[in-house]
Amino acid sequence: MPIEMVCSGCGQTLRVADEHAGKKARCPACGTIADVPLAGSPAAAFEEPTRQWPGDPPFKPSANPFADRPEPAINPYASPSAPMVRPGQYGKPHRAGLVLTFGIIGILCCMPFGIAAWVMGASDLAEIRAGRMDPSGEGTTRVGMILGIVSVGFAVLWVVLNFGLLAIGGLH
Ligand SMILES: [Zn+2]
Repeated sequence: MPIEMVCSGCGQTLRVADEHAGKKARCPACGTIADVPLAGSPAAAFEEPTRQWPGDPPFKPSANPFADRPEPAINPYASPSAPMVRPGQYGKPHRAGLVLTFGIIGILCCMPFGIAAWVMGASDLAEIRAGRMDPSGEGTTRVGMILGIVSVGFAVLWVVLNFGLLAIGGLH
């Protein structure tokens, strides 16, 4: 079956044998050398191969599917647990050093300091868990509170032992 094509030089309809499909052919009427379309291609396509068909919708890039995704405003790689704490990020600075000092003093000599360390430590840990206090002091605050609890325990033990000794002594 011969291929029909329209010569771009003179507009004449040419018939080319199948074996010349996809090759160059010389128009016998005007001598224009033209590409022979592949078999089965519409002859008109040869004229303007890049022509847009009127029925084709104009190419319109679809809307960016990521357009409605909000851009991350903060650096997603910034670690929230980084040791650098911005000032003013938390309502209060922690009192870990003070709590620890009170706990140590309570253990060494003065049990009331231990009670203070216990109360302050418990309240500060609650504040830290609620996000209202600088969390970098959490570990030290916990240690100070535990020392305070231990100092109170020692004091209670000491009192019990003394009263026990007094009671034993009173029996004699
Ligand atoms: Zn021609």
